[in-house]
Amino acid sequence: MTNTIKLAEFSSVVFFVGAGMSAESGVPTYRGAGGIWTQYRYQDFACQRAFDADPQGVLDFHEVRREAVLTCKPHAGHYALAKLQAAHPRLHVITQNIDGMLQRAGVHVDAELHGSLWRMRCAKHGIREDAATGQFSTRRCPDCDAWLRPDITWFEDAVNEDVFTKAGELIATAELFISVGTSAAVYPAANFIPLARRAGARMIEINPERTEASTLFERCYALPASEALTTLFV
Ligand code: NAD
Repeated sequence: MTNTIKLAEFSSVVFFVGAGMSAESGVPTYRGAGGIWTQYRYQDFACQRAFDADPQGVLDFHEVRREAVLTCKPHAGHYALAKLQAAHPRLHVITQNIDGMLQRAGVHVDAELHGSLWRMRCAKHGIREDAATGQFSTRRCPDCDAWLRPDITWFEDAVNEDVFTKAGELIATAELFISVGTSAAVYPAANFIPLARRAGARMIEINPERTEASTLFERCYALPASEALTTLFV
């Protein structure tokens, strides 16, 4: 029987969430069997070059991804995290996920490192559509008529510096850092794990598998996210 971890004993807590968090909801992870990039070539659907060559085709692909995500529902772990966050004044959530599943369960996400499937942006005018989990009204910028692209970090894109800076600040002051469902193989996001350790946070990993960063954690719980989040923390 594992002793529960009392989050109130830590003045600042960061949950660092990856695709494994959504796996039990039915959203495919990036790696492994069923992973989306084993079925599609990212060069055709998920980079600026593809969008420039065929904006409608790339937007259609993302519409299909949104529809797939909407058939999935948050699981008990998502709701448990929302409850833990509501009870702690400084429980921050930083995610690599783009699916909006945490928000659908009522989690406040402080930083979406790789953006969101649910926002569209104009290269010149910034975010122009934020559908939360609904339909977009237009594929064109209302100000300049340019094609809007999903506000996500595609392959070959630079990351959003503002979002990474905010995440870095939260992690640098965290007393407890809990990684959930990330392979720690996608950079630069994976750099946040050694950053948390250098900053002196207590380090906990939740993942059924060992990861490239497991040696940086004091405790690794080989549990699925739903079980870990509903049993390990109070
Ligand atoms: P990843 O796919 O590289 O790794 C997923 C990790 O989750 C693996 O280590 C796996 O062992 C673990 N896992 C699987 N089932 C789990 C469960 N039930 N509970 C806990 N852990 C579980 O994911 P990543 O590290 O987040 O990197 C993927 C990148 O691709 C991210 O940058 C992200 O932007 C993007 N992506 C996002 C989504 C999404 O939004 N849901 C899905 C796929 C990819």
